[in-house]
Amino acid sequence: MSFFDRFKKKKKNEETAAPKAEAKKEAAAAPAAAAKEAAATPVGAKNPTTYPTADLGTLLPGAPKNGKINLAIYWAAACGGCDVSILDTNERVLTIGDMANIVMWPIAADGKEKDIEAMPDKSITVSLINGAVRNTENEHMVKLLRQKSLLVVCYGTCACFGGTPALANLTGGKDDILNYVYTKTPTSANFQKDCGHADKPVVPVNEYKAPEGVLTLPVLYDTVKTLDQVIDVDYYIPGCPPLQESISQLLKAVVDFVYNGVALPPKGAEIGVTEKCLCDECPRTKEYKRITKIVEPYQIDVDPDKCLMDQGILCLGPATVGGCNARCTIVGQPCRGCYGPTHLVQEHGSSALSAIASLFPVLDDDPTMDEEKVIEIMSQIKDPLGYFYAFTLGKSLLNRSVKEEKTA
Ligand code: SF4
Ligand code: SF4
Ligand code: SF4
Repeated sequence: MSFFDRFKKKKKNEETAAPKAEAKKEAAAAPAAAAKEAAATPVGAKNPTTYPTADLGTLLPGAPKNGKINLAIYWAAACGGCDVSILDTNERVLTIGDMANIVMWPIAADGKEKDIEAMPDKSITVSLINGAVRNTENEHMVKLLRQKSLLVVCYGTCACFGGTPALANLTGGKDDILNYVYTKTPTSANFQKDCGHADKPVVPVNEYKAPEGVLTLPVLYDTVKTLDQVIDVDYYIPGCPPLQESISQLLKAVVDFVYNGVALPPKGAEIGVTEKCLCDECPRTKEYKRITKIVEPYQIDVDPDKCLMDQGILCLGPATVGGCNARCTIVGQPCRGCYGPTHLVQEHGSSALSAIASLFPVLDDDPTMDEEKVIEIMSQIKDPLGYFYAFTLGKSLLNRSVKEEKTA
């Protein structure tokens, strides 16, 4: 019996047993679910309707009576998009200044590390930190901000899940990366050759003794980390970058706390997401068709109304938490999962893989569908690891590639 036949048989047995097991599981889960529901307090993540999108102009009523709060914004291993998303508040960013002293914001303000070091512990009300942690400077700064802050918000997908920087965990580590970037890419290879360094390429060093003194660069880590793998985090705002509405939800919570003494959201809350998956807010019509051919959007005339998956385009919507208003699928691009998994799932990539695999006609009684045919369909997924873990590898159980030790 082939693996394919064994799999079909096992699945059939499981299906017969499933209803009973499911009923048992539901009964056991009911008290825990009720407790979770009861614990939910007014917060965007757990109850998005409680904090509707607010106009920042009406939200921020001038300076708080006890004086302005301190706000820090920091980027670690980031592309700058998260900072730009905060600037997307446009002129409202000035009204944030009514409420807060911006004590650090490398992209827009002049606060320095020494200024933060001089502040008393917990004197920064909120630190918004975007980007993953990939070097010694990132780690030092996020630990310093944690020490000085009352609340730390993990802002954006790179900080929450590792994001695209964590795909570097699929390399052999920092030496592999530096070697590739400084000697193998066409521009750097040509540069090394043109400058006569082809035999002994010039690569960055962490310490250099110049006549004026010792110059240092941060040390790159072999493994990129999420923010909560390095420091304690209070809230999460996922998205690459997060929607501007998420910022107003967070600010609403902070404003309610600072001006009106309303309790803050519970620690660990995810702000700006829904309880359900992205498909739930995607306006496309789903027929849950079987997939036999996988295509990219540019290869077909994409139907503007039908589910992309029904058209053969792989979409991570079934495994991704809602909250972005389906901003990619609305314009005909599949979801790549930047908001991360739903609350019930830890492993985003395998959840997406399982959702997509269920659309392959593996279990149908189709005589033309044999093991080879299924493998042929699945082989059309180019770069499965990069596709299913594009944003969440840093937080996944896989986390990074490892070298197999050779035993004698
Ligand atoms: S989450 Fe996206 S926008 Fe934000 S820093 Fe990372 S890559 Fe850039
Ligand atoms: S296009 Fe994607 S998000 Fe929309 S319904 Fe289909 S699978 Fe779900
Ligand atoms: S549709 Fe998917 S990839 Fe696009 S913004 Fe939303 S969660 Fe991110």
